[in-house]
Order: sequence, then C-alpha cells, then structure tokens
Amino acid sequence: MPRLIPRPYAAPTPYRITVLRMDPEAPTQNQQAKDVGKAILSGSAFSTMHRLHWLIIFLSLVVTIAAWRITSSQIQEKAANTYERETSKILDLVLERMQRYEDALWAGAIHINAIGGDIQYRDWKRYAEAVSIERKYPGINGIGVVHYVAPDRLHSYLTAQRVDRPSYRIHPDHDKQGFWPISYIIPEKGNEKAVGLDMAHESNRYAAAQLARDTGEARITGPITLVQDEQHTPGFLFFVPFYRSSTAPLNVEERRETFVGLIYAPFVVNNLVDGVLSRELRSITFSISDGSEEIFNEDAIAEHEFDNDPLFQSSSEIELYGRTWTFRFRSSKEFRRDLSSDQPMTILIGGILVDLLLLMLFVLISRNNRRNAHNAQMLLQAQKKVERANEELSHFNYRTSHDLVAPLKTIRGYVDLAKYQIEDKDIEGISDCLSRIGKQASRLEKLVEDLLNLCRIENQDSPPEAIDPHEIFDFVSSTLQSLWEEKGVQVTFENHLQAPFYAESVRVRQIMENLVSNGIKYSDPQKSERWVKVGFTPVREGWIRLEVADNGIGIPDESRDKVYEMFYRAGNNSEFGSGLGNYLVKKHVSSLNGTIDYRSSPQGTTFHVDIPAKMTGR
Ligand code: ADP
Repeated sequence: MPRLIPRPYAAPTPYRITVLRMDPEAPTQNQQAKDVGKAILSGSAFSTMHRLHWLIIFLSLVVTIAAWRITSSQIQEKAANTYERETSKILDLVLERMQRYEDALWAGAIHINAIGGDIQYRDWKRYAEAVSIERKYPGINGIGVVHYVAPDRLHSYLTAQRVDRPSYRIHPDHDKQGFWPISYIIPEKGNEKAVGLDMAHESNRYAAAQLARDTGEARITGPITLVQDEQHTPGFLFFVPFYRSSTAPLNVEERRETFVGLIYAPFVVNNLVDGVLSRELRSITFSISDGSEEIFNEDAIAEHEFDNDPLFQSSSEIELYGRTWTFRFRSSKEFRRDLSSDQPMTILIGGILVDLLLLMLFVLISRNNRRNAHNAQMLLQAQKKVERANEELSHFNYRTSHDLVAPLKTIRGYVDLAKYQIEDKDIEGISDCLSRIGKQASRLEKLVEDLLNLCRIENQDSPPEAIDPHEIFDFVSSTLQSLWEEKGVQVTFENHLQAPFYAESVRVRQIMENLVSNGIKYSDPQKSERWVKVGFTPVREGWIRLEVADNGIGIPDESRDKVYEMFYRAGNNSEFGSGLGNYLVKKHVSSLNGTIDYRSSPQGTTFHVDIPAKMTGR
C-alpha cells in the first residue's frame, strides 16, 4: 500500500499593505502668499531661487539704475544748458544794449560832423528831442555834448552859451589845463545839475574823456555817482568824440588838434539793466563789477530768490569800451524749482518696486517648483510602494493559499492511508495516522490564527489600560504551559516594576506570547536544563523593558536582518511555524512606539522590547 508522504511547507514571502495619504502639510494658496512674505523677510526664500531668477532681477536692477542715472544726467544736462542759455542771453542783451547806445552817440557825432563840426544849444535840443531818447533808449538818462574849451577860449565859450542860458556856468573849479564842460544835455529836466559840470574836475571822468579823444573810439568811465542820481547808485558816462576835420583823424596828434568835444550819455547801472532785462522773466541773478568795484548786484534785490547753495554759478569778464566788466551769475531758487523733477526718483522707486514684485514672483515660483518636485517625488515613491505592494500581494496570495492547501492535502493523504489501515485492521497504524492528522490540523489552526492576527493588527488600536505584569505572565502560562511541559522547558518570571503600567494590553500580550513561545520552541534538546526567563524592568523615565531570554539553539548571524520579515523562517529549526510570529511582534512594537532588538549565540537568545509606558499612580 503506497504511503502518502505529506509535503513540507515552503516559505512564502512577506505581504504589506500600503496606504497612500494626501500630504496634510500642503498649504492653501493664501497661506502660500503669506509664507512667501515671511520667507522673504527671513531670507530663507532666497536659497530656493534659481540662478536665472537672480540674473533677471540683477539685470532689471541694472536697467532701473541705468534709467535713473540717465534721466538724472539728462535733467542735469538740461539744467546746465538752460543756465548756459540764460547767462549768454543776459550778456548778449547787455552788450547789445550798450551797442545801441554807442550807435545813438555816434549818430549824434555824425550829425555834428555833417553840420560843420560843432553844434549850438538849440540845434542839439532839436536833434536830441527828435531822437526821443527816453522812448527809444530805456535806461539812458539823457544825451549831451561836452566841449573841450581851451583857457584862451573860455570867455567866448561862456558868452556863446549864455545867449540862450544866461545862468550857464562851468563848475566846479579845478587845476587842470583847459575845460571839459557839459554844454548841453537833453532832456534838461532832471539833468539840471549836470549842465556846466566840468569833466576835468574828477580824474575818472577826465581819464575816460581824454581816452575817447585820443583813441577816436567810444569809451566809458569807471564807476561814478551821477550828479543827477538822487539814489547815489553806481553809474557811468559814455563818451564818443567828434572832431573838426571832415575826415577821421589818423593819429593822436591829429585827434588832439582837431578835437571839438564829446557826445555823452550818463547811465545809472540799475536803470540800464532794468531797461534791458525784465527781472520776472529770469531765474538767474547776476552782479557786475568794474575792477574791484561792484556796480550792480541783483542778489540784494531778489533776496527771497537768493539760493545759498546755487545749482550753478559762473563769471565772465568782458572788455567794454576801455573797461573790464566782470559779470557774476548764479542760479536762483526759482531756477532750482523750475528744474526740479521727480522723474528720476519715480523711475528709481518704480523700478525697485517692480524688482521686488519680480523677487516675490520668483520666490513663489521657486517654492511651487520645489513643492511640485517634492510632490512628484512623493508620488513616485508612492507609486513604487503600490507596485511593490501589488507584487507582494500576489505573492502573499500564492503563499497563503499554498500553505493552507498543503496541510489539507497532507490530512487528505493520512485519511486515505487510514482507510486502508482500517481494512487491514491495523489499529496502531490508524492511531498514528490520526495523531498526524491532529498535528496537521493544529498547524492549520495556528496558521489561520496568525493570519487572522495579521489582518487585525492594523485596526487593533485600543486605549491604553493599566497592566499588571503578573496578569501578562498568567496569560502566557495559560496558553503555553502545555507546550513548555511537553518540551521540558522551565519558564520563570521576574517583575522589577514598582507598579502596573499603562499600555495597549492586547499588543503586550501578543508580544510576550510570541517571544515566549519561540523561546520554548527553539530550546536546545542537547542541553540538560532548558529554560526561558521572562522579565519586566524599568529602563529610563517613562520607559519599560520586556525581556525574554532562553538558552535555546540561538539565531544564526545570517538571519539577523530577516527575523522580523513576514513568513521568514531561519534554517536552524525543525519546529513547525508560520514565519509570522516575529513579524507580528515587530508590528505591535511599532504601534506602541517602542523598539525591539535581540542578542543571540549558540548558548541562547535574549529578546528585549522597550516601550514608552506611564506607570500608574504617577
Ligand atoms: P516561526 O513561526 O517560524 O516561529 P517567527 O517569526 O516567530 O516564526 O520566527 C522566525 C524565525 O526566527 C524562526 O523560524 C526561528 O528560526 C527564528 N527564531 C525566532 N525566535 C528564536 C529563538 N528564541 N531562538 C532561536 N531561533 C529563533
């Protein structure tokens, strides 16, 4: 009769269930915006930015600063041009006006020349009134004639003058040779004091008059106070010579010889400038000096517009009818106001604002990119986990169905064998068969039990409850005592905890049951005394240690990394097992936030499990 030999178990591979979860830390968009602000302030955001972003911001800043500087320098340039234009305009107008006065004086000289080389009072009056000086030449105080009177001609000169003006006299007295009196000046009103005034009485007037005579050109005096100016402000006299000869004398001797007199005009410098330029139309003030003497200063007039720190100031020296006039210009407050522009600052601030917005945008983009990359990585990992889990699941299905079927087939084999033994009335054989069937059924029961525990393990959470170590030991004894008696293993228990502790009772029981049962199962039959020691000890504040030590066969070194894997069975045993015990233990320890480790040698194995546990009464 063929005997059916039950097939041994093959070791299946582990099975894990992976749960994918949304990232609970994932922020909302509002939160993101706030985060960006905080990140920029703290500086942490910048580390995430790409080099290209920095380059763009840098270039944008460069463009902003360049635009700001170009605009500023354009405004500076415009200001400089305006200043230049205004100062030239002032100079041109003053010079042009002087030129016109000179022309008016030369016209007088030409007129005298045309009528025979000299002119009488009435003719001059008619001529001057016809020229209408006040209207055509604003700033000029009058136009007159100065005669040179040699001492021997004094009497006849005075007689001639007193025909129309009996009170005419030359004044003041002086010690020069000859007289240079103002014979006529039109208009007479306001110029009364000037009539008869001798140019030779005072060196300044005298020098300019002689110079005009000797050069044959227009000349002006240095600064003088005009007799007709009641304000006593600086003024000057303008001289143009006329001679007896009909042709222009060629040299000094000829000029002195034929010299008759001078056409002259007195000027008050303030009036001259007022007539030339309207103060309101200018944003530049100026002063005029003749040598070291100031003859005009507008700054005092426009005090409220005086700029202590002018944007521009400059000076120009002009050679003018034998004198050197220095014009000093300075820009006024009005000039500063006219040219002040917010444009460069607006460009700068606007540009910086745009750059800040760019910065925020880039920070946001970078953070999103980083988050997306992180999420993509998470997804990839999750995908890999799912793929691995699927593989493991199909393997698990295969292995569990195989391990369930294998003992059933073995039982079936023993049942068939038992039938024949019944026919043969082989009572001993039948009893052996039944005992083997019973063992296979026990294995099947243990396997199903472990699988059920495995399925329950994820959802087994229960609130911590006070656990007395003695209760745990009682539980272990009740389930394993028959096994340790059968194996001849002595199991002892030591408790070093002062009080019960809080933990999930079901998990602690299953941990202890599995470890103790392994200690018993893998005891060493070669050793005369076989034992398993169970202990509870405190390790550090808030932690306790569960320890199971045996003097069994030990776990081979090559199994160290695998003993907690699902379905793993080391090659050191011939004992029945599902390979799920340590896997379940490890799962429970993780759920309790604890750690598990062991040391092992051929002399025995000690497992210790550390778990956080509050002691009761504390
Ligand atoms: P099994 O159902 O095979 O006992 P376990 O997961 O409980 O499965 O243990 C895995 C393997 O680790 C065992 O097959 C055994 O080879 C080894 N092992 C576990 N505990 C001990 C121990 N105390 N002494 C010797 N070997 C052990």
